[in-house]
Amino acid sequence: MPAKVLDGKLLAKQIRRELAEQVADFIENNASTPTLAAVLVGSDPASEVYVRYKRRDCEEVGMQSELHRLPAETAQEDLLKLISKLNRDSKVHGILVQLPLPPQINTERVLEAVSPQKDVDAFHPENVGRLAQGRPLFLPCTPQGVVELLQRNDVPISGQHVVIVGRSDIVGKPLAVMLAQKGVDATVTLCHSRTADLGAITRQADILVVAIGRAGFITADMVRPGATVVDVGINRTDAGLVGDVDFESVREVAGLITPVPGGVGPLTRVMLLVNTLDAARRLEN
Ligand code: NDP
Repeated sequence: MPAKVLDGKLLAKQIRRELAEQVADFIENNASTPTLAAVLVGSDPASEVYVRYKRRDCEEVGMQSELHRLPAETAQEDLLKLISKLNRDSKVHGILVQLPLPPQINTERVLEAVSPQKDVDAFHPENVGRLAQGRPLFLPCTPQGVVELLQRNDVPISGQHVVIVGRSDIVGKPLAVMLAQKGVDATVTLCHSRTADLGAITRQADILVVAIGRAGFITADMVRPGATVVDVGINRTDAGLVGDVDFESVREVAGLITPVPGGVGPLTRVMLLVNTLDAARRLEN
């Protein structure tokens, strides 16, 4: 029997509805509206689209968003000045610097300049450290989206073997930390491009999460029958957007599977809203 498909789009819609109520409550009880400031440097077409979506998401749940646009040739100092101004602006609760930044700008330096209290992407080293210690201010959006997707679909995590393929700072590594945390209690294996005999490891997974950026890389023979397969990958191909998992073959083996598009992506977006509301609650109290 083919795998059940986990619908991220539907779940994200449900979470947005819940958030809209929480935002309305917040506005009623505070003299402010949760506000996200997005900083966009240059005019990369994909970044333009991402920022537009993020702002639309804010409006949909009743939050405010501001867009701060800077030209591609902006000097690092000017970008840092803007971030410092947003850090001090009491109307702004979350700051999002859309990546990638142009080559003359040191991305790490910029992300470190964002106040950890307003760092809704959870990229600041202080927030990365807090996450590792199990006392996060914010959870990074994509890993948080993956965990939410599993939990809200009643997929057991405690005691399960989760194999994550991909060890980036924004997906694989923080997800491994979150799932191995006391209280979540997965047994986690983190794989990467130097992992020997990858298939032998992925076949041991109760839950297989793939975030590598290679279209259709995970095939049915790499998946244990009945496993839950979460595909984080987004790859632009001539056939449109596809994930890192060969969906058609893997769905014949897996128990549960996320589609691309419509799986993890919509949850990543909604988690930015969750973090912005959290930031507003902390800053206003
Ligand atoms: P990165 O390019 O930063 O990292 C890729 C990781 O995959 C690296 O750890 C790399 O290993 C590993 N890898 C590459 N090739 C192989 C291979 N053949 N076998 C095993 N491991 C391999 O990617 P990101 O984490 O930023 O993104 C991964 C994918 O997820 C992309 O498609 C991206 O578009 C998508 N994405 C989706 C999001 C969503 O919301 N759905 C959000 C963020 C990303 P090594 O470290 O050894 O180089």
